[in-house]
Amino acid sequence: MQDNSLTIALSKGRIFEETLPLLAAAGIVPAEAPEQSRKLIIETNHPEIRLVIVRASDVPTYVQYGAADFGIAGKDVLIEHGGEGLYQPLDLQIAKCRMMVAVPKGFDYAAASKPGCRLRVATKYPDIAAEHFAAKGVHVDIIKLYGSMELAPLVGLSDAIVDLVSTGGTLKANNLEAVEHIVDISSRLVVNKAALKTKYELIEPIIEAFAGVVANGK
Ligand code: ATP
Ligand code: MG
Repeated sequence: MQDNSLTIALSKGRIFEETLPLLAAAGIVPAEAPEQSRKLIIETNHPEIRLVIVRASDVPTYVQYGAADFGIAGKDVLIEHGGEGLYQPLDLQIAKCRMMVAVPKGFDYAAASKPGCRLRVATKYPDIAAEHFAAKGVHVDIIKLYGSMELAPLVGLSDAIVDLVSTGGTLKANNLEAVEHIVDISSRLVVNKAALKTKYELIEPIIEAFAGVVANGK
């Protein structure tokens, strides 16, 4: 018997909110909001389509192993994950921000980041940070953190941080400044490669609907 069910992996917060209009364009309406219900599996108006709510950085893993047929993940998360087993057909232009290097105000970053220098860098994104500084010829000691990176240089844990910046408000509030742009970030549609083949008739119209919203937003 053919499997007509679809499981979509999303993270709560900004990705869930910014995905609602995309889902609506595909005729999919969640039965409830994850913040309110605390449920990890959310039904939709379609009996065969459900959402699973996972940590943002876990979305590629659920899709890679086929526990979800597709999902939405930030490029930051996808670079760190590596993208194995994932088809990435669409940049959704949501959750836009920039991966940046930031340091305490007054820190002479130009002098400290010359080729051959050594820097201590705190980040949630060790691969992105390591690659960035390797390309500059700067030696780095990467300190892996899971959140509140802004604190690290303030208490002497690191010289610099590599983090996502949108308005710069959090940096400013902590007396830090962005000194280098690494990469522009937005969220992508990620589809399990096997599901794309076996459930093509179900998934393809949803990709088309999402693409239509993205094209209209430009
Ligand atoms: P948590 O905040 O629970 O630790 P998280 O940081 O992984 O989890 P979010 O803060 O919701 O989750 O971020 C999810 C995705 O949204 C990120 O992977 C990134 O692509 C994007 N994002 C993160 N920060 C911003 C921001 N300030 N502005 C726009 N998009 C962002
Ligand atoms: Mg966050």
